[in-house]
Amino acid sequence: MFDAHAHYHDKAFDDDREEVLKLLKNKGIKRIFEAGENMAGSLAALETAERYKGDVYPEISVAAGLHPLYIEGVWEDELQGLEELLKSGKAAAVGECGLDYRGIKDEAVRKRQREVFEAQLCMCEEYGLPAVVHSLDAAEDTLRLLRAHKTVTGLLHGFAYSAEVAAQCVALGWKIGIGTVITRPEAAKIKKVAVSVPAESILVESDAPYMPVFGNKGRNDSLSIFKITEAVNKLREEAGAEKICQKPES
Ligand SMILES: [Zn+2]
Repeated sequence: MFDAHAHYHDKAFDDDREEVLKLLKNKGIKRIFEAGENMAGSLAALETAERYKGDVYPEISVAAGLHPLYIEGVWEDELQGLEELLKSGKAAAVGECGLDYRGIKDEAVRKRQREVFEAQLCMCEEYGLPAVVHSLDAAEDTLRLLRAHKTVTGLLHGFAYSAEVAAQCVALGWKIGIGTVITRPEAAKIKKVAVSVPAESILVESDAPYMPVFGNKGRNDSLSIFKITEAVNKLREEAGAEKICQKPES
């Protein structure tokens, strides 16, 4: 199994990162896709991947990028730093990048999010890398930008839109990231998405340390992908859809 989206460089793992990663490998997590949220986070993610190399740990691949909610005063410098990092060839993807309009009314802030997202999509084109996209309450603008950069694909992490939007993203070649939200009884929208898209377009992700499985409190980890996969496959079986099977190489 592989976890398509997590943050093991997060301080939530500072006390026991090594033990957690060893345990994950023991339990069958072969690979983890780690995502940065800004330059400091992306560098920390790369450091984590470098430090925990070897047979006793899962293989860690890193997405380096600027999350829409972490765009601060020096974002031009951050983008320049990101480009330098991508040139080094150390990152496997660009992200998390994207748009998050939730609770943001200020049009200037939204516009800056779009600029920074589009700059990162251009970097994907330039360096031939996939993107890891975070998008909330911004379906229309996200789709418009994905269409404007058709050669770029990747993961729409923590997918939060309708089955109709999912179908349009899949048609553009994107993977739909399904996380622990599906374990919540009220999550009708993602449940529809989970049965409507082709099996090969779904990637299961923990978003650890965030988003614990429904009913749990505290820190999440990649073992939750077993519960997510089970929940997705139960729904797909009921709907007569082909089951998903998350292989570490996909
Ligand atoms: Zn995340």
